[in-house]
This record gives sequence, structure tokens and C-alpha cells, in this order.
Amino acid sequence: MDTLLDTLRNCPSWLLWIIFLAENTAILLAVLVWGHRLRNAVREVNASGIGQQATQAEPGAQSSASFTGTVAPSMPSVQHPPHPFAYNSRQWHIAAVTTVLNTVITYTGYWLWTQQAIRITTAFSISILLHAAFLFFAMDLLMYIFHYVIHKTPLYKLLHTLHHEATDPEPIDLFILHPLETLSFGALWLLLLLLFPLNIYGIIIYLIINVIFGMMGHLGMEPLPAKVHQWPVLKYLGTSTFHHTHHRHEQCNFGFYTSIWDRVFRTFNSQS
Ligand SMILES: [Zn+2]
Ligand SMILES: [Zn+2]
Repeated sequence: MDTLLDTLRNCPSWLLWIIFLAENTAILLAVLVWGHRLRNAVREVNASGIGQQATQAEPGAQSSASFTGTVAPSMPSVQHPPHPFAYNSRQWHIAAVTTVLNTVITYTGYWLWTQQAIRITTAFSISILLHAAFLFFAMDLLMYIFHYVIHKTPLYKLLHTLHHEATDPEPIDLFILHPLETLSFGALWLLLLLLFPLNIYGIIIYLIINVIFGMMGHLGMEPLPAKVHQWPVLKYLGTSTFHHTHHRHEQCNFGFYTSIWDRVFRTFNSQS
């Protein structure tokens, strides 16, 4: 890792811009492809579950699958695009702008690191898990506050209506954000990195988790069986249904990774 960081430090700027743009483009495409595959896999399991139960059920009895495949039992199934890239040109345009802005945030983080404002450690120790957990919970709180504020103030119209055009989100909606909203989330992230030296592996683990939660929140269906939602720790995680419910009922579920802050500040929708 030290060699890789030294190489990055000595890279020409133009090459770094290309590398960071490629990285953020790969994240966009990965979310679209893996989101699409996961939805298809859930739908297949769901269909086979319904088929099996239908053959066992009494004639005329209503069957139910072990996977909901929908947001909540009372919500209808959402039509999904036929392939991972079946989005219109406006969606692609906005997602491209978000990807470029994410590249600007990545480069700003790199620049702050070269100026030693952001300090990185590379030790293979317990700090990896501690720092990943710190970033997870700290960003969850900061994003809850920011998200709550933009919903409850005139900032909503300026920054957030674009993201809320989708009442039944699809994977690309993770990137359907107003440019200022993208930059604001990026600023929160960079401010956190300024606090104290953070382990690079912990940062990478957090960033992977961040993308997974973002994709799951905009999946448009719930891949987890209902009973899993009640497991001790999972009960407090931000599931697909949790964020999907926010898109349908904007006055609840402002958290991203957990429902902790929504429970604390009484904005949690218990149906999610
Ligand atoms: Zn969303
Ligand atoms: Zn919102």
C-alpha cells in the first residue's frame, strides 16, 4: 500500500484525473449492473417460491413468497427496466454530472492528502475496523442531519426535489442528485477525513459499504425476507425498504446506513 500511495503522490495531475474519473465511472456502472442482477435474482427466487407454494396451496388460496420482492406487503411491485442501462438520456446526463463531481471530490481529497491536511495510516491493525466503524456511524449522523435540514427548510426546493422525483427509486437514482447536493455530501465526507489520521484500509472498507448501502436503498425492491428485518442488529440497519419508504413518505427515514437517528429523533417509520 505504501508503494501505491508513493506512486499516486508522484503521478502527474492529468493522469490522476483520468484514474479518479475511471474509478467513479466504474462505481456508477457497478451499481447499475449489480443492482440489476440482484433485482433479477430476487425476482427469480420470488417467482419460484410463489410457484412452489401455489402447487402446495389449496385451490383458490392466495400464495405468498418467502421473499417479498416488493417494498412492503401493502405496496405493489415496481416495473423494472429490461437491462442495467435502460435509462433515458436525462437520467444519464444527470448521473454523468454526478460522476464528474464525485471525481472532483476524489481529487480534492487527494490534494488535501498531498498538503498533509488529510493524514493516512497504513498499519495492518485493529484501527482498520475501528476507523471503518467510526466513518460508518459518523457519516450516518452527519448525513442524517444534512438530509433532515434540507427537507425541513427552503433548501429542499433548491437541492433535493430532483432526487425525490423518484417515488419508486431505481439503481440510477443513487446518482440523480442536484450538483450542490453531491458537493455537500462530498464536503461532509472530506471534513470528516480532516479530523485525525485514518487507516487507508478502514477508509476503503467504509467506501465499499457506502456504495452497497446506496445501491440497496435504490433497488426498488426488498431482497431480504421480512423475518431477517427483525434480527437483533439488522433491525437497526438501513434496508432497501427503509430508504424506499423515505422516497414514498418524505417526512420519515432520513438516515442512510442505520435507523438509529430516526429512532432517536422520532422520524422512524416503523413499517419499514
Ligand atoms: Zn434516495
Ligand atoms: Zn430525502
